[in-house]
Amino acid sequence: MSTIVVVGAGVSGLTCALQLAKQGGNTITVVAKHMPGDYDPEYTSPFAGANVLPMAPEYNRWEGETWPELKRLAETCPEAGIHFQKAVLYRRAQDEAAGFAGPLSDGLFVRNPWYKDLVPDYVDLPASEVPEGMSSASSFTSVCINTAIYLPWLVGQCRARGVVFKRAVLKHISDAAKLSHTGRKPDIIINATGLLSCRLGGVMDKKVMPARGQVVLVRNEATPNMVCTSGTDDGNGDELCYIMQRAAGGGTILGGTYMKGNWDGVPDPNIATRIMKRAVEACPALTGGKGIEALDVIRHAVGLRPYREGGVRIDKENINGTWVVHNYGHGGWGYQGSWGCAFRVQELVDEIKSELKLGSKL
Ligand code: FAD
Repeated sequence: MSTIVVVGAGVSGLTCALQLAKQGGNTITVVAKHMPGDYDPEYTSPFAGANVLPMAPEYNRWEGETWPELKRLAETCPEAGIHFQKAVLYRRAQDEAAGFAGPLSDGLFVRNPWYKDLVPDYVDLPASEVPEGMSSASSFTSVCINTAIYLPWLVGQCRARGVVFKRAVLKHISDAAKLSHTGRKPDIIINATGLLSCRLGGVMDKKVMPARGQVVLVRNEATPNMVCTSGTDDGNGDELCYIMQRAAGGGTILGGTYMKGNWDGVPDPNIATRIMKRAVEACPALTGGKGIEALDVIRHAVGLRPYREGGVRIDKENINGTWVVHNYGHGGWGYQGSWGCAFRVQELVDEIKSELKLGSKL
């Protein structure tokens, strides 16, 4: 058996822990400052919508390999809190002219995207279904994840396979060397500390910064589709309009913002008003045509996405004599890339085990 300590209990750490537990041959401890059930803007995972809107400009294995697993869970595992929902993307002419360089600046809105062959039912909508102010629209079948159910479900799946969970706040990534529940020094540490990897000793990644996401969670459930527009008329260029209904009574998320470098964890009431107005305009059925006063707010919230300049970091590094596999910096796609990233982490773990002659399954 190899001894592994996973640092971080967000979607990245939990998915890696589960994948490594499923593989067998690993004794795993998950240590984290925040666990599912906690709400803190620096612990991003609970605040995500979360849905699948592929963002990479071309095929990437993170999103490509995650979709089949989320689809399988939506089809066969109701207790995971994931359901299918149709996603409708609306493009504004000015965003298209600017090459979709808005807050998401990604491959989501381009025409004829790579992911049309990944997700089911991708179609361009006829002009009659494109609202005023939008130049075109597309739709496909996606999923929406109720994070309040999915994160505890991941914990449960891990615990059923013998993973042990402990609270700890690490000053340095090498502190994990003392934290395996076995008392042994771990062979491998997985660093899934998200945004706080910019402050963790031994990592201190200056390319990591928050992309502030403000949302409103409401009880209204009138929208049959998830809606996302390529830009907004009244925001500051870092605001978005999206609506998604979480599975299993999780309410509807209205978003949002994507403010790079902004650490403010307190919801801004002016932004909240704009988010709600845009949502009701994009989907009047949310309030039966009655305006934002008829929104039944569960909470206003802010989560700080772990944005990393140059993209996600998934690699291995020997720090103070112990192998560390990094998996952080997923920005706004941590759920929709979670399984693909965990598969890569497993490959790196296998390489290290092989090198350490620890009975790798390579
Ligand atoms: P986190 O969830 O932040 O977890 C980090 C973990 O590391 C925590 O347990 C923390 O306590 C621990 N940790 C950190 N430092 C230390 C330390 N020093 N000692 C001990 N423990 C430590 N993604 C999608 O795929 N689809 C979406 O629709 C989507 N929508 C989003 C909407 C919003 C408003 C936001 C904010 C995000 C959204 N995202 C979405 C992005 C997604 O939420 C993130 O990419 C993902 O949650 C990152 O997960 P993580 O596990 O890497 O980090």
